[in-house]
Amino acid sequence: MLSHCANSQCSRPFLRLRQGKLFLVESECVAKPGEVTAPPSPHMRQHPRRVERFWLCDQCAEVWTLVHDRNQGIGLVPLPQPPAGARVAMAEEYRETA
Ligand SMILES: [Zn+2]
Repeated sequence: MLSHCANSQCSRPFLRLRQGKLFLVESECVAKPGEVTAPPSPHMRQHPRRVERFWLCDQCAEVWTLVHDRNQGIGLVPLPQPPAGARVAMAEEYRETA
């Protein structure tokens, strides 16, 4: 899971922790809403947690982030563009339509 960039279009090999961005995603074995569960026991953890690790390389971490969706699992979503870049994009768009 951690051997490559989480972006399937990129798949850059993971080499160093200092590069890129590391995401820790806790996936819990939770009961469905409405389902009756036993009261927590002090002797055992009711919801064993599994932490999954995902990594985005430097380039991908600049434009992508990871979100955890309960149904779909891990997904890539684009980061909001910085204002300067957005302004340039808007200007270009305006020029094209004018
Ligand atoms: Zn990448």
